[in-house]
This record gives sequence, structure tokens and C-alpha cells, in this order.
Amino acid sequence: MTTATARREALKAVYEQASGCVRCPQLAATRQTVVFGAGNADADLMFVGEAPGANEDKQGVPFVGQAGKLLEQLLSEIGLERSDVFIANTLKCRPPQNRDPLPGEIENCRPYLFSQLELIQPRVVCTLGNFATKLLRADTTGITKLHGQAEVRTIGPRAVRLFPIYHPAAALYTRSLLDTLREDFSRLPGLLALDPPPQPEPAEIVVPVTAEEPVAAQAPETEEEPFPPPASQLGLF
Ligand code: URA
Repeated sequence: MTTATARREALKAVYEQASGCVRCPQLAATRQTVVFGAGNADADLMFVGEAPGANEDKQGVPFVGQAGKLLEQLLSEIGLERSDVFIANTLKCRPPQNRDPLPGEIENCRPYLFSQLELIQPRVVCTLGNFATKLLRADTTGITKLHGQAEVRTIGPRAVRLFPIYHPAAALYTRSLLDTLREDFSRLPGLLALDPPPQPEPAEIVVPVTAEEPVAAQAPETEEEPFPPPASQLGLF
């Protein structure tokens, strides 16, 4: 069992790696910041959006523009705030002129998102819009058909409750979508209250620790702090 502290340290290493990423030459050349993700690194609930926009690119934090304000509002309506959840994106870099992410970019960035999911270990993953939904379901079915329907999905080594909803940016200008988004959002507390989904058998054979073997002392689990840590350039809360 990996401790929260060890997972957090590993997440920081992924953050360092992503911060210098040049896998997508165009995005690396045009971005101001790599927007890794922010929030509680041990959250039960993780949101996955599309890609940073201009504000996010400037500040290095996801969902800080208009769509982010709406996301915060919807969170507050279910009694949560940003520091309770982790927010990330399918792409960590802003596509120029906010164009759609390209398939190759999504593929290049996928390992970062999958590492985040593996290390944060959320129970519920809420995909915002088509790009995150299609990527994490590995299927082309669109958000109009899927929104509001939770399903247990295995992503990497872990099973999660995947809950696709409309992207808040889409709901900013269309009243009916906002109503639907709010209604879907209201189901999140119920999903979070469910038992964690059964996990698949681990692929590796774990050698049990015998009584004779010394067991390394483990640091006590610390209070949850927001991620990235406040000391970093992106300290959020
Ligand atoms: N839209 C997204 O999908 N992500 C952000 O971070 C901001 C807007």
C-alpha cells in the first residue's frame, strides 16, 4: 500500500517532468506555462477538463477564467470547494488560439494524466466535455449521449466511477445546458458516498512481508495540503 505522502512525492516528480515537456513542439513553443493541475493531491473527486485557455496559461492554474468561476459556483452548491478536489486537463498546454487539441497532442499528454489518476487515486472522476470523456472511456461516444451516467471504468491500474458531464464553458452561454449541468452536478455527492468500486487484481505478484523481514519505518501521514505545494510558483490556496 502506497502512503499518501509517497504518492504526493511521486506526483511532484511528474509535475517537474511535465513542467519541461517538449513532446508537442508547437505547444511547447507557444505556451507560457505548463498547467499541470491543482487542488487536493489526495482527493476523492477529480475533474478532467479539455485544455488551458489564455488565463490558465498565464497563471499556471486550471479553470481560473469564466468556466472556472462556474465550476467553483457549482462546487459550492454541493458543499465543496476547489481545495477539496483535484482539477486537471486532458492537455497541460494551451493550444494556440484555443483550437481543439490534436489527436497526437492528446496521446503525448496522456501519460501525465494517467499518472495523476494513478497517484491521486480519486474514487470519482468527472470528465468535463468531449475530449476528456472520449479519452478516459477510450471510445468515441459523445458527451450529449453520456452526460450524467456514472459507470465503473478501469483506467490504468485502477477502477474509478467515471462521471461525464458537460463542459462548463458550453453551459456559459446556453441556459438549458446549464440546467442539465447543475442537475448532473447534484448527483456527485451521492456518487462520492458510494463504496469505492472493486479494484482489479494487481498485475504484479506482491511478495508478502514475512515476520522476520524488517519493515521500514514510515513517516506519519501529514495533513492534506493543496497541490502544487504553496512553496511552489503555483501555490493556489
Ligand atoms: N477549459 C478547460 O477545459 N480547462 C481549463 O483549464 C480552462 C478552461
